Amino acid sequence: MLSNADVASQLSVETGNVRIFRHRSLKRIHKEFAGRCAAKDISISCSEDFLTEIWKEQRLSCIKRSTLGAFLLEDLSPEWFDFVDFHLATIGCHFCCANYKDLCQEQQTSDQREYLRQRIMASTVGFLSKP
Ligand SMILES: [Zn+2]
Repeated sequence: MLSNADVASQLSVETGNVRIFRHRSLKRIHKEFAGRCAAKDISISCSEDFLTEIWKEQRLSCIKRSTLGAFLLEDLSPEWFDFVDFHLATIGCHFCCANYKDLCQEQQTSDQREYLRQRIMASTVGFLSKP
């Protein structure tokens, strides 16, 4: 297993961010694992397949919608920007790509509304300024 520092170095992010992410992920895996054991009333072995299954189901490395929005507006720190870019472009997570596409469409609609509002204002400003 790679150390937090090794992961941080490979992803060019802060070690503290890796530590927090790893802690949160392990906490969620433990909770999911305990829930499944209790539901089936058996002891499930902690195989790699089982961890992969939990990782995919829980989308542990997926990006929050608010973070995707900040990514769209290029309002993220360089480290976060790179992580989100890696998640979308390299991993190609279907869930996050769909979420991002949806945000892009929302932004485009918002831009179109603003453009229309400005055109209406520009075309009516002459009427509004007459006494
Ligand atoms: Zn994702």
